[in-house]
Amino acid sequence: MREAALEQSDVELKALMLEERRLRNQLLKYELEKMQLKKSELLHNHEQVEKDLADMMRQSALRRRQCNHRKGGRGMEGIRGQGSANEYSIFKHQFPNGEWFIICSRCTNEWRSPDPNDPNYPALYQAYQTALMYPTDNIPSGGSIFTFKDSTTGVPANFRWGQV
Ligand SMILES: [Zn+2]
Repeated sequence: MREAALEQSDVELKALMLEERRLRNQLLKYELEKMQLKKSELLHNHEQVEKDLADMMRQSALRRRQCNHRKGGRGMEGIRGQGSANEYSIFKHQFPNGEWFIICSRCTNEWRSPDPNDPNYPALYQAYQTALMYPTDNIPSGGSIFTFKDSTTGVPANFRWGQV
């Protein structure tokens, strides 16, 4: 009698352990599916953000290419960068080292003194010089001009945009 009861509880215990294992497996499977879903959502969101960014960059590159950087223009023409005035819609800022930063307020195109090591240096330098000559009635900004010199060599060590 006692043996039969023990055997019965052993069977019940085994059944309970099996049920517990089954439930644990189910829970793990559910958690795994949840993680996979979350991962694919994150990937999708990331892809969407990348796509939106690429679209935005393409649109602003197109806007910069189409802009003549001039003031004036009638209505949408002007807004789309087809200004008709002689004055340019640019702001010039001079850095303390004497170099200029120029930006178009219509298309946000920027011109900076290029890095001499840049493979496109001649074209970039030409564009920078051309932008410097653009007539504008906007008041340039800037501070006092000074240079740093290397104390050992005496060579000017000016700050340059894009160079570390
Ligand atoms: Zn422009």
